Amino acid sequence: MLLKHTTPKEIDRKALTINPAKTCQPVGAMYAALGLHGCLPHSHGSQGCCSYHRSALTRHFKEPVMAATSSFTEGASVFGGSANLIQSINTIFTVYNPEVIAVHTTCLSETIGDDMTAIISKAKDDGFIPEGKKVIFCNTPSYIGTHVTGYANQVTSFVKNFSTSTLKKKNVVNLVAGWMEPSDMREIKRLAKEMEARTILFPDFTDVLDAPMDGKFHMYPAGGTTIEEMTATGDSKFTIGMGPYSTEDACIALENKCKVKFDMVDIPIGLKATDRFLMSLSRHANVPVPDSITADRGRLVDLMADSATNLYGRRVALWGDPDTLIPLCEFLVSMDMRPVYVVSGTSGKLFDVRMKEILKDIPEAKFKSGERADMFLMHQWIKQEGVDLLIGNTYGKYIARDEDTPFVRFGFPIADRSGHNYLPKTGYNGAAHLTTQILNALLDHQDRTCPEEKVEFQL
Ligand code: SF4
Repeated sequence: MLLKHTTPKEIDRKALTINPAKTCQPVGAMYAALGLHGCLPHSHGSQGCCSYHRSALTRHFKEPVMAATSSFTEGASVFGGSANLIQSINTIFTVYNPEVIAVHTTCLSETIGDDMTAIISKAKDDGFIPEGKKVIFCNTPSYIGTHVTGYANQVTSFVKNFSTSTLKKKNVVNLVAGWMEPSDMREIKRLAKEMEARTILFPDFTDVLDAPMDGKFHMYPAGGTTIEEMTATGDSKFTIGMGPYSTEDACIALENKCKVKFDMVDIPIGLKATDRFLMSLSRHANVPVPDSITADRGRLVDLMADSATNLYGRRVALWGDPDTLIPLCEFLVSMDMRPVYVVSGTSGKLFDVRMKEILKDIPEAKFKSGERADMFLMHQWIKQEGVDLLIGNTYGKYIARDEDTPFVRFGFPIADRSGHNYLPKTGYNGAAHLTTQILNALLDHQDRTCPEEKVEFQL
């Protein structure tokens, strides 16, 4: 009983978060920076922060994550980190030679109030930024927002620093990727290619955090959106943002800067969200959805129908990021499952609005976002009335063990399983994979715990 002190009785907490359903802003900024080819993320703060950000990503992806730090000591903490960052920029370009250094701030440098524009400009004036290279930054104070905010801020800084309009529009649609796995992006790129749509995906983690093992160390893996592609996003005729929490700011910045209009859709998780994404891409790229993708859809619907008797009415508790929880809950409801408890550490009105709509036919459903929407609250709800399934990141494994409840790992971080960066959850094929995971978790538990006379050979 790891969580034996969790009680069903809820006490109104004003200032205490217990086991948050989020992580810190710079983790998201560092993750997004890895999706730009030749970019080295740089954490402007103490070594401890940078180590944490890197290890959070490494533990999830099982891949080395390269990043630099300003290595604040007592002096920098008191007098500011300007000298440290200027020295770092010089060393990084001399030793590691990236195309871009993407600096994100931390709690400490934000509290000190380091002026990032002035520091980077001084580094340029001092001749520490070689010709053709760039240092960009985003502010990521972690006492507000979450890893999703940091991700959104970094993606927006890509637009502000690179997207350029030459006033010659090209027949290309930008796809701005919300927080998802490299596997999810690979599936989205496959769908776009099958539709013969010309697209630029940014950021792009394929061949970065799912790169093939070739026995050699690559400081800058082959994948990632190139600087040329990022620059060209300003000449694209349209943008589709996937996931409003992580991409809407970037889409707005691109529209303001380069007059590229945009459509905001959910991350294509599940049947309906994938339908909406493909319809948007079809309309704005002016290409039809080919029969091969329609056949993928048909197979998913067949699988959903085959699984219906075992999924119907199952009560589910979920936690994670709003951009994934929204389409995921919609998908569960479309399979007649009941997402009864949903928490997200990332707050926002849109989450509440969408959840209300999606869960309108499940009167017992409870959902909450923000700092007090934590794993402790989720466990309290489960103590009040149990669920059949848990879906969320690794932090739920203690609840799953204590409550003996089937558990499907989904989201970030997943530290205790592998494969999530190789097997997609997006598109119709990803939804089929997800459905199978859910079904198998439920049936494995049933086979293990049901009375002997109830053991079924046949599904
Ligand atoms: S101090 Fe702030 S930036 Fe550093 S790891 Fe902690 S929450 Fe993140």
